[in-house]
Amino acid sequence: MREPIVVVGSGLAGYTLAREFRKLDKETALTLITRDDGAFYSKPMLSNAFTTGKSPDQLAVFPAQEMAAQLQADLYTHTTLTALHPQRHAIEVQDARGRPREIIYSRLVLAVGADPVRVTVAGDGGDSLISINDLDDYRRFRIALNDAQQIAILGAGLVGCEFANDLCTAHKVVHVIDPGHGPLARFLPAAGQMLLRDALAKAGVNWHLGSMLAAVHHHGKKLKLVLKKADDSGEQRELEVDLVLSAVGLRPRLHVAEAAGLQVNRGIVTDRLLGTSAADVYALGDCAEVAGHSLYFVQPIMNAARALAKTLAGTSTPVVYPAMPVTVKTPAYPVSVLPPPPNWPGEWQVETQGDGVRATFTDPNGWMRGFALTGAATAEKNALVKKIPGLIE
Ligand SMILES: Cc1cc2nc3c(=O)[nH]c(=O)nc-3n(C[C@H](O)[C@H](O)[C@H](O)COP(=O)(O)OP(=O)(O)OC[C@H]3O[C@@H](n4cnc5c(N)ncnc54)[C@H](O)[C@@H]3O)c2cc1C
Repeated sequence: MREPIVVVGSGLAGYTLAREFRKLDKETALTLITRDDGAFYSKPMLSNAFTTGKSPDQLAVFPAQEMAAQLQADLYTHTTLTALHPQRHAIEVQDARGRPREIIYSRLVLAVGADPVRVTVAGDGGDSLISINDLDDYRRFRIALNDAQQIAILGAGLVGCEFANDLCTAHKVVHVIDPGHGPLARFLPAAGQMLLRDALAKAGVNWHLGSMLAAVHHHGKKLKLVLKKADDSGEQRELEVDLVLSAVGLRPRLHVAEAAGLQVNRGIVTDRLLGTSAADVYALGDCAEVAGHSLYFVQPIMNAARALAKTLAGTSTPVVYPAMPVTVKTPAYPVSVLPPPPNWPGEWQVETQGDGVRATFTDPNGWMRGFALTGAATAEKNALVKKIPGLIE
């Protein structure tokens, strides 16, 4: 019998690929390996679970056994990929008790995701910073929240703003700390940042913009945060909270691929077929850099997974990325963005419209390449998406 296709990772990337592959091929043996419990959940729902009224158990839609049955796959949970030997088409894994095992693959898909960036700060409380990047993190967070009323969030990016809005819905006192002058600074023009800032303030968010976390000290049951001004003015202030949630970015998990000699950059480097520099090894999802693009969002993963499923089923299919907008889950103030490709030449045109901002990015050839919409202007999202060329066509 031919060796199985092995997929490492049971996040959106790994499971979507397996599902799409099974639609095309019901015969080829499929093995899934994951270091978590293999439950299927939607990660974007972690940052609006209070708004949608979901508990962590309700977020775990299907347990591992059900996924294995649906996908007709051998599923190894609590099993960690530790090494890859591309020449032998072999991987080494370790189960929860540390027992090693070697698995031979016909084709291998790395869908191992990304780690949250860890902030290093002074003080004895630095290790109490929490990040949420999977359902287990979120379970621990919800337990910690039972005894927490004052929450600080580091980072006013997409995930930080979404949690801030959601925790206000849960009637927590929320402080957001960010060195920038407004939220979502990577995505929104200044006017849009100010409107989002004010709407979230109205929902209850206390902003500490232009500030950085310098130190965390345990102070009885609380955490004492020392904030310093990002402009190096030396100005400091203190804030006492029960819990600190860090949402400052992601770093793709590269170490096994890198140790095996695969080409890596920001992510595991792949071509449009999702193939890495090693024969029969593919990468997908947050860990992958696909034809130069590192996009940590659902829609690119779905597109890539569908294309790779076809390739693995026998029809070589390069990935296509259409224009892919992102809707920020801040019900206090709607935001939709489609960032232009990195370093693309062009200019922003920004107009204020009612309670919102409509910003469009046009390149020197007159093509619209991106947008940022807030408030009522978000109603134009679908019409604008149609005008924007795909990222990879
Ligand atoms: C709070 C939050 C909200 C978000 N909201 C949105 C949104 O609204 N819209 C949007 O488009 N995107 C959103 N995203 C991003 C989106 O959810 C992710 O891009 C996507 O879920 C990543 O899927 P993945 O399968 O690549 O990675 P992951 O879901 O991280 O899966 C990685 C898998 O690999 C396994 N693994 C890792 N290392 C190993 C190893 N060595 N051995 C074995 N298994 C391993 C893990 O256990 C896991 O099963 C959000 C992200 C977060 C954190």
